Amino acid sequence: MQTCSICNAASPDDASHCVNCASDLGQFSLTAVALKRMQENPRVRAVRISIAGDACSHCYELMKTYPKNKVPVLPHRGCSHGNGCRCMYEPVLEETAIVGKVAE
Ligand SMILES: [Zn+2]
Ligand SMILES: [Zn+2]
Ligand SMILES: [Zn+2]
Repeated sequence: MQTCSICNAASPDDASHCVNCASDLGQFSLTAVALKRMQENPRVRAVRISIAGDACSHCYELMKTYPKNKVPVLPHRGCSHGNGCRCMYEPVLEETAIVGKVAE
């Protein structure tokens, strides 16, 4: 499932353009817009992919933190779940990295 950021219509995972307004979903789906915003934000160190609780094994394997310039495109093309890929991007902020540091 992909949601168009321009008209809010839902399109299938394999659609390249919005079924309602024909916008390019590679640029204008909610996930694509969210990723672009994170990549442009200097405070975002990396991007984590979070998955739905009942995600398929393909999506499960790809639940990782990625460098900002190597984030895979969502929805995952190989998703086998009946409702399609529902993975989301999550920003990993500088602050989070500092909190996550191990004390000496
Ligand atoms: Zn649309
Ligand atoms: Zn999946
Ligand atoms: Zn997925």
